[in-house]
Amino acid sequence: MAQKVTAPKGTKDVSPYESYKWNWLENKLCGIVGQYGFKEIRVPTFEHTELFLRGVGDTTDIVNKEMYTFNDKGGRSITLRPEGTSPTVRSVLENGILNEGTPLKAYYILSCFRYEKPQAGRLREFHQIGIELFGSQDYTADAEVISTGAKILNDLGIGDKVKLNINSIGCPKCRPAYHAKLKAYFADYKDELCEDCKSRLEKNPLRILDCKNERCSKIARGAPVGLDNLCDECADHFEGLKKTLTAMGLDYSINTKIVRGLDYYTKSVFEFVYDGIGSQGTVCGGGRYDGLFEELGGNHVPAVGFGMGIERLLLTLEAEGKVQAEDPKPDIFFANIGEDAKIFAFTQAEKARYEGLRAQSDLMNRSLNAQMKYANKIGAKYTIVIGDSEMDSKKADAKNMATGEKIAVDLTKPIKEQLI
Ligand code: ATP
Ligand code: MG
Repeated sequence: MAQKVTAPKGTKDVSPYESYKWNWLENKLCGIVGQYGFKEIRVPTFEHTELFLRGVGDTTDIVNKEMYTFNDKGGRSITLRPEGTSPTVRSVLENGILNEGTPLKAYYILSCFRYEKPQAGRLREFHQIGIELFGSQDYTADAEVISTGAKILNDLGIGDKVKLNINSIGCPKCRPAYHAKLKAYFADYKDELCEDCKSRLEKNPLRILDCKNERCSKIARGAPVGLDNLCDECADHFEGLKKTLTAMGLDYSINTKIVRGLDYYTKSVFEFVYDGIGSQGTVCGGGRYDGLFEELGGNHVPAVGFGMGIERLLLTLEAEGKVQAEDPKPDIFFANIGEDAKIFAFTQAEKARYEGLRAQSDLMNRSLNAQMKYANKIGAKYTIVIGDSEMDSKKADAKNMATGEKIAVDLTKPIKEQLI
């Protein structure tokens, strides 16, 4: 036998027996974001590498370590999208979508690719629902993006298990002075920082604040706090956001260590964290990025959004016993006795489907006994056995598999009304 080919490390198949959970969750997510007016955008799986160099930024782990980049046969550098925000902004700019009016609210459910060390809740191909709100500078836009995240978690029944942390990281007006303070602070610990942070110190000291290395985070505890260094505009914006969250009754904590360490990320940043699935507990991360449109060659367009990891969301839901999905069962299984009856049963199943039922018949030439076992196994609500007499009379008994009750049905009439 030929050797089997295995799936690449860090990928995960979804089997036909568990995909209903994904269908349920995705439908729910689309419904909730739709309540806020977010409309779906679809973007390609791969983009020119340059988009992410500029749109994610060359001081990030994503760009430095995690991208799937290759040359295509035309010699272009191509990257599998590691996130959805930059492709969305690229598409909105390229297609002039903002001309339709603002705020523009777009969402996507897509896979992302990052070369990371796979573990529970951390994959190389994973999925996100992302929402992006373009055109509003107002703190209510940030509040709406955060409340969309909160409503998703509340509607899924895990709102009280997940903590909302918020922070503000300032803007190009107030950040340079803060950067300088951070640099001066961390310079004193230069030799103790990890290799990554040594280079962050030069390029973007803000990112040291969210380094996962224990020594670095210990040092970061004493660092100057961004919130103490905001300009008036950023401070007012943050106050407005906090006031709105409080007015909505949304509990939050301020965590000054959350950063989106790029120049075009501005003001609010936030995350929703669950602590029951180990260290990969950030279910959702987002913030404002008022500089990104300009970075990608557009005019100034304020923007705010989030990305929520669907695998992490499912892990959380499973851990909390909140997967409220059911694999849909067939309404009816048409069993047969004999070759002619097999074809008759087959056509009856098709007729039932045109009535809108979920119907199946035997495709395996199984014995009647085995067909009934199968109907039971797949959870059919009713079975109808077709034999010679049923074919002659066009009358049959539908057996309710749960109760054993039999209902006489006329096969020349719509079956649906006679059963359900
Ligand atoms: P982390 O700090 O866990 O690496 P991140 O800051 O890289 O997260 P974002 O880029 O903000 O994550 O992505 C948004 C969300 O996507 C995360 O909050 C998480 O739920 C999910 N996510 C990110 N990377 C992965 C991954 N490799 N596997 C599964 N989910 C992921
Ligand atoms: Mg990451």
